[in-house]
Amino acid sequence: MRDEVWVELAERRYAVITEPGGPAEVAHHVQRAHPAGTLLVLSDSNVGPLHADAVAASLSQAGRSVLQMVVPAGEASKSIATMERLWTEALEFGVDRGAAIVAIGGGVVGDIGGFLASTLLRGVALVQVPTTVLAMADAAIGGKTGVNTVQGKNLVGTFYQPSVVIQWVGALPTLSERERRSGVAEVVKSALIAGDAELDAFIARSSGIASGDLPSLSWAVRMAGAVKADIVSRDEREGGLRKLLNLGHTFGHAIEHASGYGSWAHGEAVSAGMVIALRYGETLGMTDSSLTERVVEILSEQKLPVTPPSLTLPEWSLPLGADKKRQGDSVQLILCAGPGECRVVPQPLADVVDWLRTLC
Ligand code: NAD
Repeated sequence: MRDEVWVELAERRYAVITEPGGPAEVAHHVQRAHPAGTLLVLSDSNVGPLHADAVAASLSQAGRSVLQMVVPAGEASKSIATMERLWTEALEFGVDRGAAIVAIGGGVVGDIGGFLASTLLRGVALVQVPTTVLAMADAAIGGKTGVNTVQGKNLVGTFYQPSVVIQWVGALPTLSERERRSGVAEVVKSALIAGDAELDAFIARSSGIASGDLPSLSWAVRMAGAVKADIVSRDEREGGLRKLLNLGHTFGHAIEHASGYGSWAHGEAVSAGMVIALRYGETLGMTDSSLTERVVEILSEQKLPVTPPSLTLPEWSLPLGADKKRQGDSVQLILCAGPGECRVVPQPLADVVDWLRTLC
């Protein structure tokens, strides 16, 4: 695998760095990317005391002007109310356009930090320091930022790219096992999108990844990060290719929505959703059942769910009908003919709903 991962955009490029070290190493990367200006270190109430405070202290010791900002841990912080508070704190501190936001945390902190960076003074620099497997593999790379509204998740936001992404693998030992496994579902998704070589390499490290071995996890987030970087480089605004990253998410959203967000972790729902997508591909003659069984085995070894909860047909179909991947009377499913051969396949919504009866 490549040592350096770069996201190549039309106007510029940025690196995705995997950092197994401690706060001093992270502070060093931040300093290198932004040698001058105020640093706004954003984290949440869990990651702050565990990791972000130490990075902020290291930056302060190096003589940098640092404002620390903390939001309560959890999805509820992805709100306009949070943004108002952060805008106020930053402006009262007297930030100027030479400032940089350093978002240290999971996808929630990354999405808020990105939105803050893109809106504050019409845009300040952004460093993403993901500390969950999910954020390292996916959320921190690619520039999607945003908050939730009463109408739904991620409906208000921007595309705003960071100057660097530091996958802070050294912060992973404090992450709960469930959060870790949930993030690994996105890594399996990336390997399946990438191809046979990545899937085989994942299998070779499977037990290490399942047990939380750091070198194995480093490899996993690096591989997934490279897959995401490559896709974003070719399709920054989700015109086509980037949709592949939604593999497993259409059915996964139905599971999350019906079971109430939280009882199924996002990655758990994506895991079961991926298997459903593969089985649907089988009914179209597109997916060989041996691929489904291979993926089921991989996910099971990670103790991820491979069968969905029991949902009613309206529970399956309502979120499908409202899904943002829907166009007219069809729903765009991500299906796979093989590893590295996943595609967006529009399907009549009625046919998908009909097939979902078999799951009820
Ligand atoms: P999260 O940010 O809520 O983090 C999960 C939990 O782990 C939180 O309680 C957090 O405080 C804690 N945590 C984080 N790092 C830790 C560490 N090293 N040690 C101990 N605890 C730690 O959730 P997430 O799964 O990382 O991200 C989910 C969010 O990401 C959702 O809001 C989703 O919409 C978003 N997302 C965004 C994108 C994107 O492209 N922007 C992609 C996928 C998901």
